[in-house]
Amino acid sequence: MSDYDRTNIFARILRGELPCKKVYEDAFALAFHDINPQAPVHVLVIPKGEYVSNMDFSTAAPTEMVAGFWRAVGTVARQLGLEQDGYRLVANNGAGGGQVVFHFHVHIVSGKQKPRFGRVHE
Ligand code: AMP
Repeated sequence: MSDYDRTNIFARILRGELPCKKVYEDAFALAFHDINPQAPVHVLVIPKGEYVSNMDFSTAAPTEMVAGFWRAVGTVARQLGLEQDGYRLVANNGAGGGQVVFHFHVHIVSGKQKPRFGRVHE
């Protein structure tokens, strides 16, 4: 995708230029705690590739990457011990969809959530 900005925050985290509180990493994905958590559990999972958004990722990523990424999302949720309590997956797509960092990512949130993530547990 031509409009991927290699200076975005998550690209810099992937390159090791910025720190993160890592919770999981494999060949396809990196997961780390959100710097501004909206719930007791708020972890971001990002693919190891230059994808702007879900629209870009689902169109341009090789099938192995799509499968590996989504398997990683499940692995992280399990690793966080969320199977019993449940969790939400949120992917903001585009500025109009609330996306702020333009490297595709999925939020894993669990527990009482602040308004940005809706009123599910309020
Ligand atoms: P979105 O609106 O879906 O693009 O969400 C971007 C998320 O990235 C927000 O929840 C931010 O709190 C989070 N964020 C921004 N910078 C960092 C960082 N350096 N480390 C971890 N999370 C971050």
